[in-house]
Amino acid sequence: MRISRIETIVAQHHLGEDKFAYSQAWYNSRTILMVKVHTDVGHVGWGESFGPALANRAIIDHVFTPMLIGRDPLDTGVIWEELYNKLRDNGYKGMHIEAISAIDIALWDLKGKMLNLPVYKLIGGARRERVLPYATGLYRRQLGAGPEPLCAEATGYVEQGFRAIKMKIGFGPDDDVSMVKAIRRTIGSDILLMVDANHAYTANEAIHLSRRLEEFDIFWFEEPVPPEDIDGYAEVKARSRISIAGGEAELTSYGFHSLLEKRAVDIVQPDCCASGGISEFQKIATLASLHNIQCYPHVWGSAIAMKAGLHCALALPHYPGGLVQRPMLFEMDRTPNVFRERLCASGLPMKDGWIYPNEEPGLGLRVDEEWLEHYKLAD
Ligand code: MG
Repeated sequence: MRISRIETIVAQHHLGEDKFAYSQAWYNSRTILMVKVHTDVGHVGWGESFGPALANRAIIDHVFTPMLIGRDPLDTGVIWEELYNKLRDNGYKGMHIEAISAIDIALWDLKGKMLNLPVYKLIGGARRERVLPYATGLYRRQLGAGPEPLCAEATGYVEQGFRAIKMKIGFGPDDDVSMVKAIRRTIGSDILLMVDANHAYTANEAIHLSRRLEEFDIFWFEEPVPPEDIDGYAEVKARSRISIAGGEAELTSYGFHSLLEKRAVDIVQPDCCASGGISEFQKIATLASLHNIQCYPHVWGSAIAMKAGLHCALALPHYPGGLVQRPMLFEMDRTPNVFRERLCASGLPMKDGWIYPNEEPGLGLRVDEEWLEHYKLAD
């Protein structure tokens, strides 16, 4: 079996009135880059890339595709290293790693379909029978507004069965504290609550904010400072009683090595659509375990990203081990995204607040390509 064609697909949906903001920017549209790897025996594999879709498409089309045609798609490790080495001298972080991620995910999907096994089986097996989804939401629809819309949104998540919620902060310490206070009061004490600043603060600001947030029982404080500021992360971690999470903007095991060896975070959050695909995700998870630091996947994207993240989450080793295992928290973005909700016939149904694996081969995707046509951007 050989790779016969690499198809790159960019799809976009304008959000109109549904636009929303996090601490860095407004989201006016959802745009995704998907990769469909074709083989000469008819099998196909799907992957997705985080990041600027058109730019990453150009990297795949012009740099990686010529290297992939005619290759054995089962050679995921060999191919990963060749793609990485091709652009290593041009940078070892950035968009080409996101592009490699999409290809790697597609190859794992393909491998699973060929062998008629789910991807989690191929990467060590499901270490757990279910994962605990948390709702990522509580973005801002209007800056400077009161907490009422966010409280109503949070109530909706609880009613849907979520036992954990992550809310956006980073809009100024006073605003953050008042919003977190309102949300905690709304959801009660039994729901896990995490906060995510998307690197809006200096280390000093984040330390002060963390202390003010302690009384609201925050499970983790995500991306308090910019990803380049590893010393800042370490300062915040050392002086915060809330666990510090980060890593969604970090790429490859080399990048995570720096974060982990300085023990700059309590929790790492690699995103397999950005940090190097499913192959690299496993290396990052191993690195995290060597440092006895918890790993939870970051997930943000279409149904392909969700499924890829789920397989990674299912197969993450328990570390440290124990008779009673902590639940694997799994990120469920709840912001408007038709590509998450409609792209695949097979969704991620929640049952009693949990998500369970199934036995479908590969990533278990059933991409609705006819529906997708409507959103495709021209090549
Ligand atoms: Mg985040």
